[in-house]
Amino acid sequence: MRWLLVFVAWSAVGCVAPLASLTRVTPLEAASARFTLMTEPGATEDEARVRAALTRAVPKLERWGSLAAPVTVRIAPSHKALERAVRRNGYDWLRAWARYDELIIQSPGSWAGTDRDVDELVLHELSHCLMFQRSGTARDWESKRIPLWFREGLATVTADQGLRFPSLEDLADWVARNPGLDVFGDAEQLSREAYGQIYGVAFHAMRFLLRRVGDKGVIDTMDAMRAGDDFGAAFTRAAGTTPARFEADFLNYLRFRGFRGFGLKARPRFFQAPEALPAP
Ligand SMILES: [Zn+2]
Repeated sequence: MRWLLVFVAWSAVGCVAPLASLTRVTPLEAASARFTLMTEPGATEDEARVRAALTRAVPKLERWGSLAAPVTVRIAPSHKALERAVRRNGYDWLRAWARYDELIIQSPGSWAGTDRDVDELVLHELSHCLMFQRSGTARDWESKRIPLWFREGLATVTADQGLRFPSLEDLADWVARNPGLDVFGDAEQLSREAYGQIYGVAFHAMRFLLRRVGDKGVIDTMDAMRAGDDFGAAFTRAAGTTPARFEADFLNYLRFRGFRGFGLKARPRFFQAPEALPAP
């Protein structure tokens, strides 16, 4: 149940309509990151909570770099206002939306988020901004064709959201029961109805990738995009395999339950291949 609660935004598509009621504008600096918060005049408690979460999130982004461009953070007063602003309808689980240098967050008071929930949400969303800023410029970031699993995988891993999504065992069962689904190729469409599973695939696929190439492989992928590659070329250069081959490897890992250590649970850990170690 817990993972159904989640927020998470996606990102690379759509444009943002103005939220005209957000007339209170305040700046925030946290380490080298710069923000402009925009809220309704009376939303001081929500603003304070989001401000605190932004300050706590910035150091946790350093794993991937720093936010080079200032980010405008708008706090939408309701879910309806959020969906209207991002021109989406029917995404009840949506709590925020991230782009290159802007975030829209549904006010925590309107969805009863705890401070920990807000911290996760803000860190997740800022991970998107950082990825887009590190992978491109304000002009070309949307043309990089970064797939959902890579975007949401990096954000869910950074925000340590694994408990909100299905386990590898549950995902393996789900994939086996739905052999006709293309969980990578159709991820955008499937996320509307199968949000938990699709984000779970993203989370576990990113962890699978990190065990193979480490943070450096992910950073090198972003830097190669910044230097001009699209995602496919950048990933192939940095990870040493194509996205299609990596996706197939991950699906085999699920189908054959490679995460179980090939059924040899008593085998000493140092004899197991890295990808055979159980996920925590
Ligand atoms: Zn997201």
